[in-house]
Amino acid sequence: MSVAVTNEPIAGAAPEEVLRWALDSFPRVAIVASFQAESSVLIDMAAGIRSDVRIITLDTGRLPQATYDMIDRVRDRYSIAIDVVSPDPVDLSEIVVEHGANLFYRSPDLRRLCCDVRKSRPLARALRGYDAWVTGLRRQQSTTRAQTPVVAPDPEHEGLTKIAPLVSWSKDQVWAYIRDHDLPYHPLYERGYTSIGCDPCTRATTAGEDERAGRWWWEQEGEVKECGLHWAAK
Ligand code: SF4
Repeated sequence: MSVAVTNEPIAGAAPEEVLRWALDSFPRVAIVASFQAESSVLIDMAAGIRSDVRIITLDTGRLPQATYDMIDRVRDRYSIAIDVVSPDPVDLSEIVVEHGANLFYRSPDLRRLCCDVRKSRPLARALRGYDAWVTGLRRQQSTTRAQTPVVAPDPEHEGLTKIAPLVSWSKDQVWAYIRDHDLPYHPLYERGYTSIGCDPCTRATTAGEDERAGRWWWEQEGEVKECGLHWAAK
């Protein structure tokens, strides 16, 4: 099915309307959840629209235990199926044998290789057969996300449309929604984390730091704080 992926007129709509439009417009659409605060919001909104909403999450093999706990909490609360996708074991074995289990600390290139094997390739595999996917990106999260469109063809996944209903929301709006709806949220936020990814690659942030400063914090200024799911080297 071919669906117009123009940003208009849905671009200015509220997140819930964008989600409803996405779920109505695309036969096969999935929410890709990391179980950060934005995922809590999107899943709650989507579950209120459709009970058979499809959720995909990437189990990189290096997630904090609290993320696995969140997956179960969300599954139980909404009685929804969550497709937990793992890296290809052969790909994984190859990089670990060649570069070590903690290759991400050795260089930015090896960090990106790890993200590619543990995140990007599994996502590409999981999205086969889908028409569109929904992500919790917000423009305020970082400069690399400042131009994120609400709806656009996804250059990384040919033929798919990428939808970001929360792009224009602030962090405060996300947390207001979580509080107002008494949603489950990732417990690491209570310990000073402002962005949550793999355990060895994420730390808490301090006042004044960027939201994503705790991701790959050992890399030099200027390295892009993205894993490749939402950003590609030009
Ligand atoms: S965040 Fe770290 S552990 Fe996770 S996939 Fe990327 S480099 Fe690997």
